[in-house]
Amino acid sequence: MSKNIVIIGGGITGLSAAWELQKHAGDSLHITLLERENQWGGKISTKKLITPEGDSISIDGGPESFVTRKPEVWDLAHELGIQNKLTDPGSETSHMYVLDGGVPTPVPLSPAAFIRSPLMTTKGKLRMLAEPFIPAKRDNADESLAEFASRRLGVEAMEKFIGPILAGIYNTDPHRQSILTTSPIMREMEAEYGGLFKGALGRMRAARKQKNESKPPRFIAFEQGAQDLIDALSVQMEANGADLRLNVETVKVEPHANGYAVTLGDSEVLYADALILATPANASAQILDGVGTEVSSMLEKIRHENIGTISLVYRAEDVQMAKRIHGLMVPRREGRAIDAVTFTSLKMPTRAPQELLLLRVFFGGGKPELVEFEDDALLSKVSEELADLLGIAAEPIEMVPFRWPCSFPQADVGHLDLVDEIENLLPKGVYVAGSSYRGIGVPDCIRQGQQAADDVVNYLAL
Ligand SMILES: Cc1cc2nc3c(=O)[nH]c(=O)nc-3n(C[C@H](O)[C@H](O)[C@H](O)COP(=O)(O)OP(=O)(O)OC[C@H]3O[C@@H](n4cnc5c(N)ncnc54)[C@H](O)[C@@H]3O)c2cc1C
Repeated sequence: MSKNIVIIGGGITGLSAAWELQKHAGDSLHITLLERENQWGGKISTKKLITPEGDSISIDGGPESFVTRKPEVWDLAHELGIQNKLTDPGSETSHMYVLDGGVPTPVPLSPAAFIRSPLMTTKGKLRMLAEPFIPAKRDNADESLAEFASRRLGVEAMEKFIGPILAGIYNTDPHRQSILTTSPIMREMEAEYGGLFKGALGRMRAARKQKNESKPPRFIAFEQGAQDLIDALSVQMEANGADLRLNVETVKVEPHANGYAVTLGDSEVLYADALILATPANASAQILDGVGTEVSSMLEKIRHENIGTISLVYRAEDVQMAKRIHGLMVPRREGRAIDAVTFTSLKMPTRAPQELLLLRVFFGGGKPELVEFEDDALLSKVSEELADLLGIAAEPIEMVPFRWPCSFPQADVGHLDLVDEIENLLPKGVYVAGSSYRGIGVPDCIRQGQQAADDVVNYLAL
């Protein structure tokens, strides 16, 4: 008899879990995927605008580019047959600036730029250059990103340079962020090569050896927006018979017979032999309250912060910038209302016609209350910041905001131990996966969705 699997949450994690289950055990399973919102993808969401001239502008609200060192997005795009939609967005670090004392300052990426850079004092630079001589940490204990960067590169490098960049990527406080969850590669380089500089050299040599093998660019993006990945997954799964339901909130899960009863917002009850919760941990805590208050309160320990983006479209001629800037990171110590700015159409010219400039502002980290602002108030605050920091005084011709209140997971030091404990407390046949647990990037989420699918297959001995 076919088994019922219910997956809750239709972001990339839930979709990847469903895809994996359908691929490997589709005939012996009835797969139901439940999503509260009216579209698939969760934080992956692309909005298309059409200009009066009929040109298209593609705006990603959430993720935009994906590192290929973790191959899951690249592999999944190939599996779905949409590899022709991939593009190389170029390096994430070129023309990158960091705000320092109110002044956008280039992130020094070459040795010459580093020596000339006003970002750090000579003492700070010398300390950073001493990195290869700092002994490697030999235990596996977690530490904060700030502790790691200060230990290896010095406090100044951490405050002025490394901290803002990584904190910008993860929208978090580097003094709390777990290095083992969010940047384990840095600890791997330390363990394998003895330090970051030696590690970078070692990896460069290894990459040179593989030069002749065809390999993807370091980052990839979808030419017309990341939603293309989501659309391909949902369309192909539906065509193969998965039961995909939008606008369905899961309210609670309770034990029932040898499995679980899943109560939906309209009071319908589904019965499942196994369950995957691909919802943020704070949502999973509520849903799982009926199967165990202990696991539920452990899930609540994972903090979730506000995050939002607002994309602004300008006439290119209205925005004259003195410097070529692709991105600006705004460290929290600067006390500004915004966290970062990306000049999307300069990085990815296919996103908007040439006569327009598309930029995207991140907010919600430094000043969480901005996520609650109405559109007009948000635009006015963000415009003030853009005028002050970058001299952009023009009015945008379009704006597209996205907001995710209390939904951006924070991996504090010791996070992976907490996740181990949560997994040990989960009742049999119930799995959690996604950005709240073992890595926040989309490749991490795909990997966790696939792992949860494998766990279900093993549990049901399919
Ligand atoms: C602004 C921003 C930029 C980012 N940039 C990048 C990037 O460039 N590269 C990268 O790799 N990653 C990036 N990320 C991270 C990445 O996008 C996310 O970590 C990832 O998409 C999360 O996927 P998920 O499926 O685990 O969770 P989500 O996308 O949050 O999906 C969870 C789903 O569960 C649904 N849900 C919640 N409660 C219920 C319920 N009770 N019943 C039914 N459904 C429910 C939600 O509606 C949602 O659709 C970014 C994130 C943000 C916010």
